[in-house]
Amino acid sequence: MTIETISIEGLSTPVGRIGLGTWAIGGWMWGGTDEKESIAVIRRAIDSGINLIDTAPVYGFGASEELVGKALADGYREKAVIATKVALDWRDEKVFRNATPARIRQEIEDTLRRLRTDYVDLYQVHWPDALVPIEETAAVLAELQKEGKVRALGVSNFSVEQMDEFRRAAPLATTQPPYNLFERAIDDDVLPYVRQNKLVALAYGALCRGLLSGRIDQSTRFDGDDLRQHDPKFRAPRRDQYVAAVRELDEFARTRFGKPVLALAVRWVLDQGPIVALWGARRPSQLDGIEEVFGWHIDEASMAEIDAIIARHVKDPVGPEFMAPPQRVAI
Ligand code: NAP
Repeated sequence: MTIETISIEGLSTPVGRIGLGTWAIGGWMWGGTDEKESIAVIRRAIDSGINLIDTAPVYGFGASEELVGKALADGYREKAVIATKVALDWRDEKVFRNATPARIRQEIEDTLRRLRTDYVDLYQVHWPDALVPIEETAAVLAELQKEGKVRALGVSNFSVEQMDEFRRAAPLATTQPPYNLFERAIDDDVLPYVRQNKLVALAYGALCRGLLSGRIDQSTRFDGDDLRQHDPKFRAPRRDQYVAAVRELDEFARTRFGKPVLALAVRWVLDQGPIVALWGARRPSQLDGIEEVFGWHIDEASMAEIDAIIARHVKDPVGPEFMAPPQRVAI
């Protein structure tokens, strides 16, 4: 299989246009984790040509970064492009934003230790923190870059104005917004900005938290602390609309392209611009379909048919806003 690649400013190795997302692997908010499966899926990703591994300190409160570190020991580190994040803090499993220079200085050391490495390839501000000027956050990240602890800088969940502020103090290579067939808020602003400024977008939720895999229906139950229990898309009666849309998209994809809906969903994301789609696989078998994403494109007429299918079924759309961590009220 030949995986499509794209270059990120500041990184010497091009990255595959599918990246492995490791939030679910961390367990927290995804109903638990399995260490053996997690390590196996990370190595399977690298062996398949998926070199970008996206993680964050907050995923499992260190657990996801630790697993990535373990998986990349024994010769895998040099083949991987580690994208992690900074500026979310937590106390007693309550998460809040914290982008102060002091927090960032502490976090990078914890991250490097957990990842068993002495540099991070791509360091991303996880969410903007309204209590800290963005230029202050960017300036400390630029220092880390000069010190060689991080190679390239990114942001996540930032508006266009916030990205402008960041770029006044540091070079910006990437942004990480939510983006998939059902969640397209970036079409009007962030995506045009990415194109204009030669950034790369790392699209999260490309499978819409599993909905676009085609394996979720009305009877699917989510266990433990799985965030999909609180996701408004997965609640009746709205879930019926989304499941019906996925079903028709699957029929369409199979008839038109000979592909399942999962491949259509990821191809759709990649065909929108300079984007890497993050795929939140938690078991090696969940990466089985990646080769079906490459070697074809969705033509304009099919794009319009896809939009018509979604409009026909999803009468009451809702975005991914429920995932945003609260703003702090004081430092
Ligand atoms: P996602 O990739 O849209 O969906 C993940 C879920 O899809 C998995 O938990 C799994 O569900 C299911 N899945 C994956 N491959 C499958 C397959 N082949 N067949 C059937 N189901 C499959 O969601 P995401 O984890 O929210 O997003 C991906 C990554 O983006 C995260 O891991 C993280 O790195 C990043 N992210 C970033 C932010 C941010 O604020 N920057 C926010 C969210 C996510 P089951 O668990 O049911 O098996």
